[in-house]
Amino acid sequence: MAVKIARILVIEDEPTIIEFLRTGLKYEGYDVLIAPEGKRGLELAEKGTPDLIILDLMLPDIDGIKICKKLRAKGSIVPVIMLTAKTSVEDKVSGLDTGADDYITKPFSFEELVARIRALLRRAGHKSETALLEIEDITLNTTSMEVKRNGKPVHLTPTEFSLLELFMRHPKRVFTRETLLNRIFGYDFSGATNIVDVHISHLRDKIQDKPPRLIRTVYGSGYSLQSEEE
Ligand code: CA
Repeated sequence: MAVKIARILVIEDEPTIIEFLRTGLKYEGYDVLIAPEGKRGLELAEKGTPDLIILDLMLPDIDGIKICKKLRAKGSIVPVIMLTAKTSVEDKVSGLDTGADDYITKPFSFEELVARIRALLRRAGHKSETALLEIEDITLNTTSMEVKRNGKPVHLTPTEFSLLELFMRHPKRVFTRETLLNRIFGYDFSGATNIVDVHISHLRDKIQDKPPRLIRTVYGSGYSLQSEEE
């Protein structure tokens, strides 16, 4: 059976975030449509048949809440994730009242966003959203957030879990520290890149990743998951 590639419409006006989302979502295998303002967003929401919409609250013309209300008024049931820079509880509630399925507060990490996208697409019945990842004797369930090595549960922090999920989804790919920082901590994280080494070191300890390791250090580059299995 052919697996349908999910199409995601991003309605957002900030160039940095547009690029961050375009690159990341394409890499994850999604088909990406971009609308830099609300009017175009509404057009693409109808004509572009997206499977999910990422909708910024603050847009130059029509705000995100109005867009979402319009979509729902027209009978659209497409899952909507609202991006908001506001953090107060009232704003979050009003975001959901409009018919948005989820919201995420800026600044956000790409992994957090992707986790929510996957959850919403799974709920909507997308076949491509596999819940169980397996490499050698490690299993990672993206729905229950459970990790097991050789059948025994491994308790990871959310950051360690995100790192392991990223490696397991893209075996053999070399991730630089900068990429990992960006993916795990968000596009505006300004900490030192050696924080990545600290998290990787904890992750290796917890999954008892002894040499020759699954998560290899690629000297001068970063990290990569190398399995002997094919
Ligand atoms: Ca905006």
